[in-house]
Amino acid sequence: AAKDGGRGRYHFYAQDLHAEAEARAQLERDLRDAIVQGDLQLFYQPVVSTATECITGFEALMRWRHPVKGWIPPDKFVAAGEETGLIAQMGEWALRTACHDLAKWPEEVRVAVNVSPLQFSNPQLPNIVTNALARAGVDPSRLELEITESVFLNDDEGTDAMFAALKRVGVRMALDDFGTGYSSLGYLKKAPFDKIKIDQSFVRGATQPGSRNGAIIASITSLAQALGMDTTAEGVETLDELDLVRMHGCSHVQGFIYECPLSSEDALARLEQGLAAIASGPRSARAPRQ
Ligand code: C2E
Ligand code: MG
Ligand code: MG
Ligand code: MG
Repeated sequence: AAKDGGRGRYHFYAQDLHAEAEARAQLERDLRDAIVQGDLQLFYQPVVSTATECITGFEALMRWRHPVKGWIPPDKFVAAGEETGLIAQMGEWALRTACHDLAKWPEEVRVAVNVSPLQFSNPQLPNIVTNALARAGVDPSRLELEITESVFLNDDEGTDAMFAALKRVGVRMALDDFGTGYSSLGYLKKAPFDKIKIDQSFVRGATQPGSRNGAIIASITSLAQALGMDTTAEGVETLDELDLVRMHGCSHVQGFIYECPLSSEDALARLEQGLAAIASGPRSARAPRQ
């Protein structure tokens, strides 16, 4: 009986693997179609200055409008794009689209685009970025590229050279999800980032009594300040979290407290309401401004 049970389990396991492989293959086929059919879309989440409460820019976040399944978040398909290499096309499309939308926004507003490790290892990336900027006619200083610590995993000359090449193009560089990877100070020394994005896992729970997150956020912001880098606190959802990251010196905030990611039309409308209009969001929860 024990043997039967064992075989049964094996059988189920094999079935699971088969189902998983099948689902993956289906996802890849769908993703290929999505790219061809133009079913990917960029949404834009405001990034707000803590000093002025004005929108200083937007982060472009990819979404997939699936014909059957509806909106699919990037957590469900970016990894598949990376594994299949499709992210190269997706990423180039994102850069072009973000620059195209950026051209419609006021000069002082920036856009940030996420760049995956595979894209970062492509020697053509600086050309791709330059072309996207030139086609849209926007200044390189208005584009920020977000890379994660994982880019530095295979710490070689290629990584350093790519970083330097992108800085020569004139774009800003941001270190995304800081604190979740190896967080080595070595690459902060080598790579002159313009911004560190403090991962939302440090913001979440930071306001709970006894949390160590506040001390960590304070250390990151003082380090960043000493190195001349901006800091964005990611995933700020509540007024208490906003007060806390402000108190600890974050120069920028991104989170549902202000806005969710918006369609490009809504982002433009948001800007046209006046850059400062966003400030009435969390403030009005405390005390009406008018
Ligand atoms: P990320 O770059 O760290 O982006 C921030 C994520 O936090 C976004 O999730 C955003 O919607 C979410 N977020 C913002 N404010 C809040 C908040 O107050 N609370 C909570 N709980 N979440 C908040 P999203 O859009 O689902 O993207 C997830 C990840 O997918 C991104 O993390 C990024 O790593 C990746 N991604 C998104 N777009 C692209 C892209 O165009 N290219 C590449 N390579 N990766 C992308
Ligand atoms: Mg990002
Ligand atoms: Mg992040
Ligand atoms: Mg993330």
